[in-house]
Amino acid sequence: MENKKVVLVVEDEQSICRFVSVVLETNGYLVETAGTGEEAINKCRVRQPSVLLLDLGLPDMDGVQVMKKMRERYSFPVVVVSARTGEKDKAEVLSMGADAYITKPFGTQELIDCVKRAERHSKQGMERFLPKKTRIQTGEFTLDLEKECALVSGKDIGLTHMEFILLSALVKKSGRVLTYEFLMEEVWKDTSLEKARELRTLMAGLRKKLEENPMEPCYIFAEIGVGYRFRDI
Ligand code: CA
Repeated sequence: MENKKVVLVVEDEQSICRFVSVVLETNGYLVETAGTGEEAINKCRVRQPSVLLLDLGLPDMDGVQVMKKMRERYSFPVVVVSARTGEKDKAEVLSMGADAYITKPFGTQELIDCVKRAERHSKQGMERFLPKKTRIQTGEFTLDLEKECALVSGKDIGLTHMEFILLSALVKKSGRVLTYEFLMEEVWKDTSLEKARELRTLMAGLRKKLEENPMEPCYIFAEIGVGYRFRDI
């Protein structure tokens, strides 16, 4: 049961929302729903879905704006649902990072095909993106794996070798919480109590260099009692 993929359906029309939910549940997905853009953003913050099905015409904000916000933070596949039929819209939303596009009205099979296509597209994108990537970028931040340095707003922040290893581990698994033990293993291959203290010191130094205001971080987040997480790329 827990292994089912969660699809967040963002749709304000009750009848469509019900139809889509039934189709997806019948095909083995768990469905969560949101009736507004704001609700969708909040729900993603609490729990990232496996797939986002996003209606463009929402009562509180344009679906395109919602997608932009999602793409700034998350990498899960997005299927855009639209009543608009112009090709320009379609090209526009796809170029902005949607993985698939479906136009209302649509049938059962069309919907399922579209969700699966989005999942495949997103996965291919990630795989193509990962192996030969020597620079990883998000916003004003760049990690250069070849030169072993990190840049913020184009400026080298002057990491030590240990700080670089710690940061790389976090960035490579961005969006996931890495435990203290995992990070100690990565940096020192040693998870003793002494290293736990050193990890705190190392992390404090890294955050000071990386974050404009370490008290209000925008890259590395502490999960108290568990570990640290680099923001979603
Ligand atoms: Ca709508």
